[in-house]
Amino acid sequence: MLKDNIFQKIIDRQIPAKICYEDDLCLAFHDINAQAPTHVLIIPRKVISTHADLTEQDRALLGHLHLVAVKLAKELNLDDGYRIVVNCLDRGGQTVPHLHFHLMGGRDFHWPPG
Ligand code: AMP
Repeated sequence: MLKDNIFQKIIDRQIPAKICYEDDLCLAFHDINAQAPTHVLIIPRKVISTHADLTEQDRALLGHLHLVAVKLAKELNLDDGYRIVVNCLDRGGQTVPHLHFHLMGGRDFHWPPG
């Protein structure tokens, strides 16, 4: 079922998370398995399973998610840079079927990402 995933349970407050930001469109919380000193997930409240499902209707929402990332990066002192990652479906390494931005910082990131 589309809403039967761990991030929906965090939105619905059925399971706890270290929430660091929320508004009427999205929330952000610290990743339980951080891959960097700062690793926050930004998710829309709207049910969107994956990046490939985005439509024209989501244009403003996407802009909002990015602006929240900028705000959080400032608040979390990522002044020297950060990385935003969106994993899409199996080959992209997505494990939770609810759209999310990984906002990571506090260390150097390399390219190619692997
Ligand atoms: P992805 O592999 O792109 O789908 O990313 C899913 C992310 O969710 C991973 O980095 C997990 O560590 C993280 N994650 C899974 N469950 C939780 C949870 N309950 N609270 C916080 N982060 C979680």
